[in-house]
Amino acid sequence: MFSLNGTGIGGGIVIGRARVLDTGSRRDVARQRIDAHGVAAEQQRLDQALDQVRNELAGLAKGLPRDAPSEAQALLEVHVMILDDPALSGAARAAIAEHLWNAEWAMSAQASHLAAQFEALADEYLRERGRDVLQVSERVMRALSGSVGPQVRASEPAIFIAEDIAPADMLTLRSALGFGIDLGGSTSHTAILARSMNVPAVLGLGSARSLIHDDDWLILDGDAGVLVVDPDESVLAEYRERQAAGERERKRLQQLVGVAARTIDGRAIELEVNIERPEEVADALAAGASGVGLFRTEFLFMNRSELPGEDEQFEAYSQVVRAMGGRPVTIRTLDIGADKTLHATAATAAVAPNPALGQRAIRYSLAQPEMFLAQLRAILRASAHGKVRLLVPMIAHDHELESTLALLAKAREQLRARGERFDPAMPIGAMIEVPAAALCAGFFARKLDFLSIGTNDLIQYALAIDRADHEVASLYEPFHPAVLRLVAMTLRAALKAGKPVSVCGEMAGDWGATRLLLGMGLTDFSMHPASLLRVKREILRSDAAKLAPRVRRLVATDDPARVAVLLERLQHDA
Ligand code: PEP
Ligand code: MG
Repeated sequence: MFSLNGTGIGGGIVIGRARVLDTGSRRDVARQRIDAHGVAAEQQRLDQALDQVRNELAGLAKGLPRDAPSEAQALLEVHVMILDDPALSGAARAAIAEHLWNAEWAMSAQASHLAAQFEALADEYLRERGRDVLQVSERVMRALSGSVGPQVRASEPAIFIAEDIAPADMLTLRSALGFGIDLGGSTSHTAILARSMNVPAVLGLGSARSLIHDDDWLILDGDAGVLVVDPDESVLAEYRERQAAGERERKRLQQLVGVAARTIDGRAIELEVNIERPEEVADALAAGASGVGLFRTEFLFMNRSELPGEDEQFEAYSQVVRAMGGRPVTIRTLDIGADKTLHATAATAAVAPNPALGQRAIRYSLAQPEMFLAQLRAILRASAHGKVRLLVPMIAHDHELESTLALLAKAREQLRARGERFDPAMPIGAMIEVPAAALCAGFFARKLDFLSIGTNDLIQYALAIDRADHEVASLYEPFHPAVLRLVAMTLRAALKAGKPVSVCGEMAGDWGATRLLLGMGLTDFSMHPASLLRVKREILRSDAAKLAPRVRRLVATDDPARVAVLLERLQHDA
């Protein structure tokens, strides 16, 4: 028995047999020089392989089952884009003529070169795109050599082990119990897809592919990021017990779906969800959400070469609004920048010296007024179909607010001129996620209809910790006394101004923080749908009025050790 550690992407524990796949960049490349007369024929051989891969990807896209994860289509499109990118296939064609390399050599050299360029980038998301380039070139190599993709029986329930698995290949492995992959991190497309397929996976294992053999018994813990190979009886028994406990817990929580979220002292709590794509509304409704507290619209703009226009955005927004059946939907305007980049501009844009502090979110939108106006019009039009609230990210300055409101007035004018319907009273709110905005929350509360606290960025900016940088991840401390003061101060300011306020950062979905936030006076939590019932259970056992004075004492201390003790007591006392 031995175990390997990697990055767990969730999904729980699975136990099963290994199936080792022969994929990935370590495949030997047949390198041969061709003679000068053979250039055209070799280029033609490459073109045929590219055509074959294009057809394969189109076939996969067409054959996607109705229940395929929403990301699947987008990921296939990214791979087609990479395939057609002149920097890959065009440069490989040129290398055949220039260096007299065979097509395999030219393709693998160009792919490695591009991947290395991505690898050198500071941004984790962009670094992961290098993996996509290698996955696409792997597919072209297979076409050149006439071999087919990972060969598995479609119904084989196994834990798949590979050096890397392209998202397109992952889609063909629908019987997978889990995935153990040597490369990649939590933001790789492979991870994103595994998450939305609801299959446990551990990435970044390093050497699983060479150490594991077909039919080895495996335990894969997608939460802890552990892969146990050939476990002995006592370890197997322990994991079986953990697996069963996880299942029992899920069933218990399921019984809370129809239960009203109300504290012991009768305070009604809104439990809303954060979504990235319209398809996720189904999970929101299944969890019994009272609304969408945050629709991160930037995901409609990412991973594509053409940005969505007003009509396409309107379709997406109104689809969510209609599906939520009268429940409120908070649509946040584009929050592009930092770790969320637009594919359409990523390749050419200069990398900002410090993107998290650069032209991100509302700063980006105000610099692109035509694009921003199109989004504002699309959101306004969606407001004719249900309860829509508009949320502006990363506000820090009064003039950003003024400019946004002026553009909104212009968008309304444009729609009136076109005879389009919208809700003239659509509430407008701001994310409070920059410490400057938290310190001046009263100003923004008075000017706007509501506030929403983005703790993810508030922590990053208050503590000067890049939230995407694993080197400093241990310093990213949600319960730092300074962070708690900023959150409490924002809630107080909004309540004083008589304006609704929610928390939509990860803190809202952390059930270890539920009683703390209730004690600060929070009545509106927005989170990933998977956390909703666990948070609801905390609410049902809490008395908000009794928590309030204890939380006031906790926020008043600037001693982190004392905060930890008081938090622990808050959590465990009746
Ligand atoms: C936040 O910053 O807390 C937030 C909800 O926004 P995002 O995670 O999209 O930056
Ligand atoms: Mg944010």
